[in-house]
Amino acid sequence: MPKIKLGSHVKMAGKEMFLGSVKEAESYGANVLMLYTGAPQNTKRKEIEELNIEAGWEYAKKAGIEEIVVHAPYIINLANTVKPETFELAVTFLEKEIKRTAAMRSNILILHPGSHVGEGTEAGIAQIVKGLNLVLDNNKDDVFIALETMAGKGSELGAAFEELKMIYDGVHKRDRLRVCFDTCHVNDAGYDLVGDYEGVLERFDQVLGREQIAVIHINDSLNPLGAHKDRHANIGKGHIGVDVLRKMVHDDRFAKIPKILETPWLSEEGGSGEKTRPPYKEEIAMLLEE
Ligand code: FE
Ligand code: FE
Ligand code: ZN
Repeated sequence: MPKIKLGSHVKMAGKEMFLGSVKEAESYGANVLMLYTGAPQNTKRKEIEELNIEAGWEYAKKAGIEEIVVHAPYIINLANTVKPETFELAVTFLEKEIKRTAAMRSNILILHPGSHVGEGTEAGIAQIVKGLNLVLDNNKDDVFIALETMAGKGSELGAAFEELKMIYDGVHKRDRLRVCFDTCHVNDAGYDLVGDYEGVLERFDQVLGREQIAVIHINDSLNPLGAHKDRHANIGKGHIGVDVLRKMVHDDRFAKIPKILETPWLSEEGGSGEKTRPPYKEEIAMLLEE
């Protein structure tokens, strides 16, 4: 049996930067990790030289961490057809983010496809395709863009597998695309993982091909099937439940794929209510149980 690849989102900040990220992952018993190259809600980024990549990887090898994935900040929106500056920022940021991802020795950059901001699905998807072509046509790095399955909150695109397929169909270098399958988002988009796990995977297989899944986000959902909300719950504390999530973690068909928790931090009992404690060590252990 190959070792299950399981970890969580970790921070990259302070003096240690990537070295700190690796130590954090190790403290959870993780063997993979996901990070943002800076704050997820803005596009300010440090120079590659300041990320402490070498020291991080040296430590990672001893800690048994062999793979990392990068998540692009969620504020960039390639689907925006209303504000040219928003689209341009997304394109130029993505070009640099691919470089940072490669420099960090990751070959997966996760991207939220974007929101059409009222202009409709077709206009939004055409804009995403245009943006991805602008970026990928001139890029030769060994990095896949993993389009994330979305909850369909607001005007978010990529909730239906077919919408991701439309993006694939427009991108010249479609071999540079992959998918990040987020269980909370898939639930919120209306795919019944709890009642019909195999049926959902079959549907995905028909539309995009199961081999396109390059990362899985393992999250429970605070909301019921089809809610289009996107609020992550701790494992076993939501509408998906630990059984299905554990089934996915142990699914042999996904053995080679990193699985990443993005569940919310916890607040101390009787404390101020502030979320100060990461749940990942316990949740990783819980999910690894047979
Ligand atoms: Fe995401
Ligand atoms: Fe996610
Ligand atoms: Zn989410």
